[in-house]
Amino acid sequence: MTVALTEDLLAFDREHLWHPYTSMTEPTPVRLVTGARGGELEVDGRWVVDGMASWWSAIHGYRHPVLDAAIAEQAARFSHVMFGGLTHEPAVAVGRRLVEITPEPLERVFLADSGSVAVEVALKMVLQYQRGCGRTDHPSGRTRMLTVLGGYHGDTFHPMSVTDPDGGMHAMWRGVLPGQVFGPRPPAYDASPASIAEWADALRDLAARHAHELAGIVVEPLLQGAGGMWPYPPACLRILREVADEHGLLLVFDEIATGFGRTGHLFASELVTPDVLCLGKALTGGYLTLAAVLTTDRVARGISGSEAGVVMHGPTFMGNPLACAVASASIDLLLASDWPARVGAIGTHLAAGLAPLRSLPGVRDVRTIGAVGVVQHDHPIDVVAHPDAALAAGVWLRPFRDLVYAMPPYVAGAGELDRLVAGIGAAVRAG
Ligand SMILES: *Cc1c(COP(=O)(O)O)cnc(C)c1O
Repeated sequence: MTVALTEDLLAFDREHLWHPYTSMTEPTPVRLVTGARGGELEVDGRWVVDGMASWWSAIHGYRHPVLDAAIAEQAARFSHVMFGGLTHEPAVAVGRRLVEITPEPLERVFLADSGSVAVEVALKMVLQYQRGCGRTDHPSGRTRMLTVLGGYHGDTFHPMSVTDPDGGMHAMWRGVLPGQVFGPRPPAYDASPASIAEWADALRDLAARHAHELAGIVVEPLLQGAGGMWPYPPACLRILREVADEHGLLLVFDEIATGFGRTGHLFASELVTPDVLCLGKALTGGYLTLAAVLTTDRVARGISGSEAGVVMHGPTFMGNPLACAVASASIDLLLASDWPARVGAIGTHLAAGLAPLRSLPGVRDVRTIGAVGVVQHDHPIDVVAHPDAALAAGVWLRPFRDLVYAMPPYVAGAGELDRLVAGIGAAVRAG
């Protein structure tokens, strides 16, 4: 690409295109991508190691021949048809796989078009279920969700309402967001039994006080992602299940980030079964936007008993055939690979490589879970200087708040992981 064309693209972008959480009037710089293959991106004309897997999604890397072919083959048949009153083989095929690979009671599948919409649908299911069961006797009904601090569930309004109050800027949205009930953030993954018990007591107490108005519990299981990259012990999931059962609440696991092996489990839901499961991000191997909400026959029947009798949702691009086709291909590719070994190897490599950073000034914590490595600082980091330093070292990273972190595609090899660790080190040393 010529310098003039590059300049022209970047100039238009700067004037006219919004980027995530970025000012339109004083935008931070964006970099031009001109290619992507395997675990690498071509950024500013130079191939660099991708540390982000395009926000958890590109687990097989870029331009995978099997995924490219799945899209091309489906595009040659048809790219999209409405899902109202029609169905097609790609939707059935991906639905079948999702039912097979998730815990047994999760057998009813809603194909949504993004993660945030999946969370919207999940919360609607929970509320409609409680109505269908006639449990809305209290004046405030059972309309509130119990969650924990530090979560992230998407950017539309209901998901924002269960996102961490600071992260979701609840102060700014007072009067707009529904008020939810927040328990303490789960303890650290290596927490002592005593601190897990303390957390459990606080949560039980909160649930008991609000039980009459609660419809469900929603959390990201095992690892809180965009709310702080915070892994926590599986014991907390069992406690959440108990609390939900004790008070007749539905338990929703938002596995949009954790799903498809990232934590070392195919799904955290294998440890504790939720009533509703949200999947997204890596569902299509990062090729297209698609999400899924799975629930049980019991919940589906409860919803049928509500006044509407149906889940009141139906996006235009529900069950998009291209997205479904590539999702099935991505799931098959994942299951045919030795993904636990790959995820384990990435985790081991990151843990060993990042450990020395712990002693650097300004670093508060270094932690890894599955194929995720995190360096937490004791101060907000410079979101321009850090990625610049990483890029200079040949790595694409997108730090936020006090975190420099990486969750590379599972195809990343030892050489790429060495470069990734060096790039994280360069970013951390940038301040
Ligand atoms: C990314 C994410 C979402 C939102 O998904 P989008 O596709 O960006 O709308 C919801 N929940 C979790 C846990 C996520 O990581």
